[in-house]
Amino acid sequence: MLGGSIVVMKFIQIKNCYKVYKNGVTAVADLTLNIDKGEFVFVIGASGSGKSTLIKMLYREEKPTRGVVQLGGINVGKLRNRTVYKLRRKLGIVFQDFKLLPKLTVYENVAFALECIGMKNSEIRPKVLKALEHVGLKDKIRSFPNELSGGEQQRVCIARAIVNDPKLLICDEPTGNLDANTSKEIMEVLDTINKNLGTTIIMATHDLDIVKRMKRRVLVLDSGLLSKDYEKGSFRTSESV
Ligand code: ADP
Repeated sequence: MLGGSIVVMKFIQIKNCYKVYKNGVTAVADLTLNIDKGEFVFVIGASGSGKSTLIKMLYREEKPTRGVVQLGGINVGKLRNRTVYKLRRKLGIVFQDFKLLPKLTVYENVAFALECIGMKNSEIRPKVLKALEHVGLKDKIRSFPNELSGGEQQRVCIARAIVNDPKLLICDEPTGNLDANTSKEIMEVLDTINKNLGTTIIMATHDLDIVKRMKRRVLVLDSGLLSKDYEKGSFRTSESV
């Protein structure tokens, strides 16, 4: 036997994590889990079970009250407020409501974050076009958000989220405002990004049909506790939460 031990660092490590809001509500309790690079993980559970709180702790919108949330070796809860922007630059985030800037075109919406960090136009252009190609919207670069369907707007948001090649894409109910067919298209886009770019994806959702179809790892939250952790492909169609 070889002497010593090799410690394998997980991409995301959450250890004995609690979030208690100022009003005394415990939104997340004693959460411990690891996520590997390249995984696609769903977070499900009833409304109020702590899904958004967990997601918010990953991008440091909320700090854990106790315990550790570690991302790529960085203890996110311990980051100083003035360095949180560095973490956010490495993440992509997609919300239920699209949050696109209405007076900017599709191209400009996707380019905006890169302009804000001072990237040169010559670097921005190929990145924006590549991101829009990944979501199948290269032919809409000059359109404004109000000229697009809901599904197309969400695809612009996904392009905006992946434009700077994040290692982690966080999605909070990304299909919440979309009909079943459009939701399916959005999931195909996310699936392709995960498979082709190797981007780790964490997605909170209410939509069990999507979860059942995708056959990925599923975390179930119940009153802030991790009640189940289904390995990839083991979430059964008969399961209810
Ligand atoms: P979910 O996303 O599963 O609906 P949330 O994480 O939004 O769950 O909420 C978990 C619990 O924390 C709920 O009881 C909710 O009312 C409470 N909560 C969420 N955000 C706040 C907040 N900013 N202040 C106080 N309580 C909150």
